[in-house]
Amino acid sequence: MRQKIVAGNWKMHKNAEETEDLLNELINKIPTDIEQRVIVAPTFVNLSAAADHLEFTNIEVAAQNMHQAEAGAFTGEISASMLKSVGVNIVILGHSERRAYFHETDALLANKVDTALKHEMEVIFCFGEELKDRQSGQQFNVVENQLKDGLFHLEASAWKNIILAYEPVWAIGTGETASPEQAQEMHEFIRGIINKNFGNNVSDTVSILYGGSVKPENANEIFSKPDVDGGLIGGAALKSDDFTKIVLAA
Ligand code: PGA
Repeated sequence: MRQKIVAGNWKMHKNAEETEDLLNELINKIPTDIEQRVIVAPTFVNLSAAADHLEFTNIEVAAQNMHQAEAGAFTGEISASMLKSVGVNIVILGHSERRAYFHETDALLANKVDTALKHEMEVIFCFGEELKDRQSGQQFNVVENQLKDGLFHLEASAWKNIILAYEPVWAIGTGETASPEQAQEMHEFIRGIINKNFGNNVSDTVSILYGGSVKPENANEIFSKPDVDGGLIGGAALKSDDFTKIVLAA
């Protein structure tokens, strides 16, 4: 009953030509009759072309970030309505790299979420503990606070446009994956606190993706866990064979 979703976060990779090439490869390799939702997030400069390119395919396009204001003097930033105007209806918010390098706080992210939802966009909301949190046994507290501060102000009805992505920071781009058991334990915890705050309708239907060094070799085992509904993929999303295998594993 929950959507299986595999999203590729291309980060700051692929120029215009490389973007087109990778999209063509994915269009050729990913079967059109699968149930999984497939989402790719190229960089801002290539989003408009990517959205056009993918218009009649089963691959959806997302932005990697967005500003919370409607418009204004915010040099270098991109608004929700700009994204919508080029056919982008999904946005990744709260990625750990945005939190760490661009100082995005939970309070700011709550604003960004509100803006995205106001524009009827879907949000892939990322969160996850750092290594020091896990080493000190604080991972559940940290994750609960990130969710509370970023999302728990929403009405239950708003959750239909929220996709969660649990990404332990220590597993992102490090080659180190959470074990399938660690992922399941956290996903079950997350679903539990959502259940407590928003009830069954939300907790049974919200997709919770795992992210952090997912590869073709480990995707099957991670995705087989009952509370893992797919993945947010970084490095392996840049290779069409790997990404296709991960999509098919979900
Ligand atoms: P990774 O990145 O798959 O390269 O670890 C995941 C992410 O940052 O979303």
